[in-house]
Amino acid sequence: MFEKILIANRGEIALRVVRACREMGVKSVAVHSTADSDAMHVRMADEAICIGPPASAQSYLSFPAIISACEITGAQAIHPGYGFLSENAAFVQAIEDHGLTFIGPTAEHIRIMGDKITAKDTMKALGVPCVPGSDGGVPTLKDAQRVGAEIGYPVIIKATAGGGGRGMKVAQTEADMEKAFHSARSEAKAAFGNDEVYIEKYLTTPRHIEIQVFGDGKGNAVHLGERDCSLQRRHQKVFEEAPGPIITPALRARIGKVCADAVAAINYIGAGTIEFLFENDEFYFIEMNTRLQVEHPVTEAVFGVDLVREQLRVASGLPMSFTQDDLRINGHAIEVRINAEKLPNFAPCPGTITQYHAPGGLGVRMDSALYDGYRIPPYYDSLIGKLIVHGRDRPEALARLGRALGELIVDGVDTTIPLFHALLAEPAVQSGDYNIHWLEHWLETNLS
Ligand code: ADP
Repeated sequence: MFEKILIANRGEIALRVVRACREMGVKSVAVHSTADSDAMHVRMADEAICIGPPASAQSYLSFPAIISACEITGAQAIHPGYGFLSENAAFVQAIEDHGLTFIGPTAEHIRIMGDKITAKDTMKALGVPCVPGSDGGVPTLKDAQRVGAEIGYPVIIKATAGGGGRGMKVAQTEADMEKAFHSARSEAKAAFGNDEVYIEKYLTTPRHIEIQVFGDGKGNAVHLGERDCSLQRRHQKVFEEAPGPIITPALRARIGKVCADAVAAINYIGAGTIEFLFENDEFYFIEMNTRLQVEHPVTEAVFGVDLVREQLRVASGLPMSFTQDDLRINGHAIEVRINAEKLPNFAPCPGTITQYHAPGGLGVRMDSALYDGYRIPPYYDSLIGKLIVHGRDRPEALARLGRALGELIVDGVDTTIPLFHALLAEPAVQSGDYNIHWLEHWLETNLS
């Protein structure tokens, strides 16, 4: 096992990794920009080092700043968290060139899965079911129209380099194609510096179901069931749960095995998530994320495992601490994302926290880097906390979520807490009867 690792991230996820390190007897090094000198991850880590000014490009995304911080502190490995450099193949290459270990998959796997066309081709070849669509990139409007006619409307045009829900446009009919095609390309160019797009059949009422996988890099891999993340706003998840309300043990076993076999076949190492749309009892692969997900705690809750601990184990050359047969689902878990945002438009709302009180009690986990008097800087993501509840079944988890939200106090800034109080009162949320479009419609009717 490593003696000391550096965490190339901030906020709740940096704190999450510090906590796992402390329990494992591994020393942790926090890095921070000048805007984060007072941050909780800085206080809680064994050591902290300032790596630059507030702008992420010059701090949390700077290869030289982070690699120098490793050299100065003697950290042997880097945990990237999620976001920032977690899926940057060039970064993985750079740290390996410096004799350091990346706590995550290889540069090659990140590269393959980071390009959605290569990812889809790879998964298809490994027997993973995919959404019908274009064979690779679609360079011209004429090609796009041909593909649209072939697979049938509606279709979705997606950026090959996409992420975070950007660079995606739906064409309901052929008449929409020209506008959708050009705007997807220009959005992709602006967001990712790459205007390549591809086309998929647009599924009209799917759920978002993702499978957690974990590999040891030596041909062994397991799956840890699914998470249902169908409640989304602008293709971004806000409420996640495990297990999925409509996934049967048979469906789980089938897709889980396909996913575990696929990652075993490529000698994948570490945590990964294979995302699917699920409609009429069929799974359709959309992308693979080669990192720990924001919503990983719901999986940890129902399986009783620490995924960060496992990441450190396999990165240091140890075997996973469980096999597929050891993994059993226990109860139901739900996570809600607490963002510093003002409803109804979800405008970022940085500012000073005048009072913070975290909920507690049986089955409640609050992953947050907040404290009384904390100033949320305006430079980064608006996620300020994740409330995770675990119950014996879904109704108990929902009741516990309502109870815990009632205890949670975040004063001084606007947050998404009222959204979850309102959602819990909805029969569709109580029954789990929704698809990926439900929340958008609900927001239009209830919040605008
Ligand atoms: P990103 O990497 O930007 O998050 P994804 O490919 O993971 O993009 O898709 C994000 C979300 O966009 C999905 O969860 C779903 O809501 C929607 N989406 C993507 N592909 C399709 C599709 N073929 N049909 C319908 N919705 C889709």
